[in-house]
Amino acid sequence: MADDADVIVVGGGLAGLVAATEITDAGKRVIVVEQEGEQSLGGQAFWSFGGLFLVDSPEQRRLGIKDSFELALQDWMGTAGFDRDEDLWPRRWAEAYVAFAAGEKRGWLRAMGHRIFPVVGWAERGGYDAMGHGNSVPRFHVTWGTGPGIVAPFERRARDALGNGNLVFKFRHRVDALSITGGTVDGIAGSILAPDDAERGKSSSRNIIGDFALRAQAVIVASGGIGGNHDLVRQNWPKRLGDPPKSMISGVPEHVDGRMIGIAEQAGARLINRDRMWHYVEGIQNWSPIWPRHGIRILPGPSPMWFDATGKRLPSPLYPGSDTLGQLHYITSTGYDYSWFVLTQSIIKKEFALSGSEQNPDLTGKSWLMTARRATNKGAPAPVEAFKSRGADFIVRDNLADLVSAMNALVGDDLLKLEHLKTQIEARDREIENPFVKDTQVMNIHNARKYIGDRLIRTARPHRILDPAHGPLIAVKLNILTRKTLGGFETDLDGRVFGRDGNIMPGLYAAGEAAGFGGGGMHGYRSLEGTFLGGCLFSGRNVGRAAAKAVG
Ligand SMILES: Cc1cc2nc3c(=O)[nH]c(=O)nc-3n(C[C@H](O)[C@H](O)[C@H](O)COP(=O)(O)OP(=O)(O)OC[C@H]3O[C@@H](n4cnc5c(N)ncnc54)[C@H](O)[C@@H]3O)c2cc1C
Repeated sequence: MADDADVIVVGGGLAGLVAATEITDAGKRVIVVEQEGEQSLGGQAFWSFGGLFLVDSPEQRRLGIKDSFELALQDWMGTAGFDRDEDLWPRRWAEAYVAFAAGEKRGWLRAMGHRIFPVVGWAERGGYDAMGHGNSVPRFHVTWGTGPGIVAPFERRARDALGNGNLVFKFRHRVDALSITGGTVDGIAGSILAPDDAERGKSSSRNIIGDFALRAQAVIVASGGIGGNHDLVRQNWPKRLGDPPKSMISGVPEHVDGRMIGIAEQAGARLINRDRMWHYVEGIQNWSPIWPRHGIRILPGPSPMWFDATGKRLPSPLYPGSDTLGQLHYITSTGYDYSWFVLTQSIIKKEFALSGSEQNPDLTGKSWLMTARRATNKGAPAPVEAFKSRGADFIVRDNLADLVSAMNALVGDDLLKLEHLKTQIEARDREIENPFVKDTQVMNIHNARKYIGDRLIRTARPHRILDPAHGPLIAVKLNILTRKTLGGFETDLDGRVFGRDGNIMPGLYAAGEAAGFGGGGMHGYRSLEGTFLGGCLFSGRNVGRAAAKAVG
């Protein structure tokens, strides 16, 4: 039977597009099979903030940041905490990825027209020692144009290949099985789904109108993670993070369903580190949802005070933007699925950013004029103000007593006591006058403001939370928001998938989130952020090149 293409790619997200375009660039024929319609091409990456982990970039140097491969690798290893036998390939992927981020990554993207917003963000700041979790320096480079800006170069390359006949898209084709002949993966089979013109990101129908089978010399699984499937998230939830939350919101569309991972596993592929995942604790319910249970992650600056459901301040160093999984662990240990930020108008207008392309029309629309308003500090960006007035999790009041009673009313109990919160806020406020202080969160604020990027657009001038001149007071109820899958198919550096017997499964490759962004979990337990899109770029590129070579 003749092959339909040299390589089949399952998934038209970023990893799939990168792999497919590397294959067509090598002169090979590829079919990209995608369960959603054409309008959803690009998968999660389209919705992303477009943040990329880069090391020792010109943007960093211009801002006076001294970074190096060695420092980044130190941070990566302290963050990943690799400690398992199956971390052999993930660790190799991690080393190769940090080298890519410090080397070719920026130039490779730039040559395709990708551009970067000049102020580098500082995500996951840690707060432990030099060898512990977190970025020692700012490394989060936001794509000019956010998510759509990172998808665009690869979509353009794919459409060029479509034009010259080397690439075929099969939209609304859902893969249900891998076909294996004599131990070699040589194709796929699945269902043709009914056409659906649901807007990008909205759930589409799963009505089946036919079936299909396709053959090729190699199949690349680039089907994303499990974050849209809360049952799977709970099933894989690690004991070390406490009990799985009863209530979660979704940071990803419903197509991030993990189904294909189960299909490939059943065909013999080895899945490792399935208990490693990356969910956020600063989730807010979208007042204008696109997908089911749609939540948005607040990317907070360092100043909001953070309280658990009982009104106890989170312990050092669990301040906003420090240690996502440390915070998640703390919050689940309280027995509640939520926590609270308490802040001022002065803080929200300078420090709140929302992750997602649609929440950042200035950066997504590449408007310098709108973006400059972030620095002029006249008000919070319009999407933040919209959440403040329309979001179910936001409370705005002129005094603390009213704020606390509205917080209790929102959750329907009286867990929060005014005196308890007041005592803690007043104590913190007494620390604000001196630049040398005992309170480590206030210390962090002073430290952040030594970095020009933070001083310009991310860190409010230190002030008392209870100073009415900085009001009104704002409380935000923070929910747990599912997002990324850190484990995945175990692969070698070419993305060839290992079978459960420990041998490579001939013909089968994996890339992107399905491969734990490389090797089956190159992040280990935690991420430095901006490493997911980057992981799709790197693994898609490696795997596409390797598969193109292998098919001869
Ligand atoms: C709001 C948001 C903000 C983010 N911000 C950032 C950021 O700033 N920086 C960063 O690094 N990362 C960020 N991320 C994460 C990043 O976007 C994702 O991890 C990455 O895009 C995953 O890409 P992927 O190609 O592996 O998977 P996906 O984008 O999930 O694509 C997989 C595709 O496979 C298809 N598929 C699945 N199963 C099948 C099947 N059986 N048959 C056919 N097709 C199938 C799916 O429909 C989907 O289109 C963000 C994500 C979101 C949602």
